[in-house]
Amino acid sequence: MDKKDYLNLMGIETWSEKAEDDSVTKAKITAHSSLSKDQRWDELEKCAKVCTLCDLSKTRTHVVFGSGNRNAQLLVIGEAPGQNEDLQGLPFVGRGGQLLTNMLRSIGLDREKIYIANILKCRPPQNRDPNPIEVATCTPYLLQQIELLQPKIILAVGRIAAQFLLNTDEAMAKLRGQEFRYHDTPLLVTYHPAYLLRAPREKRKSWDDMLRLQTYLQ
Ligand code: SF4
Repeated sequence: MDKKDYLNLMGIETWSEKAEDDSVTKAKITAHSSLSKDQRWDELEKCAKVCTLCDLSKTRTHVVFGSGNRNAQLLVIGEAPGQNEDLQGLPFVGRGGQLLTNMLRSIGLDREKIYIANILKCRPPQNRDPNPIEVATCTPYLLQQIELLQPKIILAVGRIAAQFLLNTDEAMAKLRGQEFRYHDTPLLVTYHPAYLLRAPREKRKSWDDMLRLQTYLQ
């Protein structure tokens, strides 16, 4: 069984697309109607955990698929795993993760009630920004997570995640405080907790974002 057969078995249809200068392999995650929702989650996670569709597979320690409640109303999306996430295989751990946990807890949302994922499932070396090819290659996993979860709302965490999800170059000042849509799901934007650790003065504004989020969830 080659990689393509394996991915197809796991529900991932692969195809190659000639980009302007480069060849990009994408994965389209397809639904297996015969499987339960939980089984589809499990199969999707299994696929991601052995994924080698982009070069980040060569440098990662662990694939960070995402974690949380598979029936959550809120999906939090960051850009990519950092060092701690790569080591532990979990999203938003370490000091930044604790701050995010506290931000959400401030509006009554424990981590067990929400689902957290990143656009990229593997860490870019030295925490550099994701590049567009990596995002295009990895996004089908995220789209399938959204389809399975069907969240009431998405919270994009940080400028990079928001810009990639919304396909925009707008600054955070323009993105925060507005409602967008990502594949038909309402989306709000807030600061990345790592940024808030560096710029604690902005925490006051992030509280406004949490209140806005709370209003949507109510
Ligand atoms: S970043 Fe995404 S597409 Fe690239 S190897 Fe990891 S899981 Fe696969």
